[in-house]
Amino acid sequence: MPALILSALAMIAIVAVRYVIVSGVFALVTARRLPGLYADRGAQIGREIGWSFAAAAIYGLPAGIVAWGWQAHGWTRIYADVNAMPLWWLPASVLLYLLAHDAWFYWTHRLMHDPRLFRRMHAVHHQSRPPTAWTAMSFHPWESLTGAVVIPTLVFVIPIHVAALGIVLSVMTFMGVTNHMGWEIFPDRLVKGAGGRWLITASHHQRHHVDYRCNYGLYFRFWDRLCGTDKGLGSFADAPRGPGRARRSA
Ligand SMILES: [Zn+2]
Ligand SMILES: [Zn+2]
Repeated sequence: MPALILSALAMIAIVAVRYVIVSGVFALVTARRLPGLYADRGAQIGREIGWSFAAAAIYGLPAGIVAWGWQAHGWTRIYADVNAMPLWWLPASVLLYLLAHDAWFYWTHRLMHDPRLFRRMHAVHHQSRPPTAWTAMSFHPWESLTGAVVIPTLVFVIPIHVAALGIVLSVMTFMGVTNHMGWEIFPDRLVKGAGGRWLITASHHQRHHVDYRCNYGLYFRFWDRLCGTDKGLGSFADAPRGPGRARRSA
């Protein structure tokens, strides 16, 4: 039992520290690249960090329990021997995890924009107008719960090498932070080129934080395109600032 508690506490600490380091680094990059972009946003960033620490506890707990079960009882389909599966499975499993996470995110996110759920679950995330590098984990605990179960469930269903899982978690962290940063980190030839037609970067998610009722996806534009909710890329010049703008979906 102490090992289980220790694993849960360690995972909560890892998620919180990862958030502080990655968001902190990209906030510094933002300060160098666009000085003053977050200048008047101290109160917003303070709120974002508070919600994110609560989210770290909610994300860390199931992850810590599953990590303990993996180590102590061989739970999950995470494998450490790279030859346990064919090598092509390494990239295939990463892609499958991202596709599964993206589908779950699209539908739960879209559901949370129903006015009956929006205030209770998702309004916290949209208080960030426009978002910052600290918005990545700024979720109400109910919303955090919907995100926290994804990877701990998938590891029981889809086999994945421990390093490939590390890549999935890194992509999740990197995209979560950069999609909210308030500027586009990827070059135009990707964002506005063939890749950008299917991949979600900050330009796409920024539009969700402005228009609300569109661009619900996480990594891929597939579901948005299929369901007619893709309104294309946003521009950073039209990002609303401060609480003056009316919330459209609430
Ligand atoms: Zn967002
Ligand atoms: Zn939303």
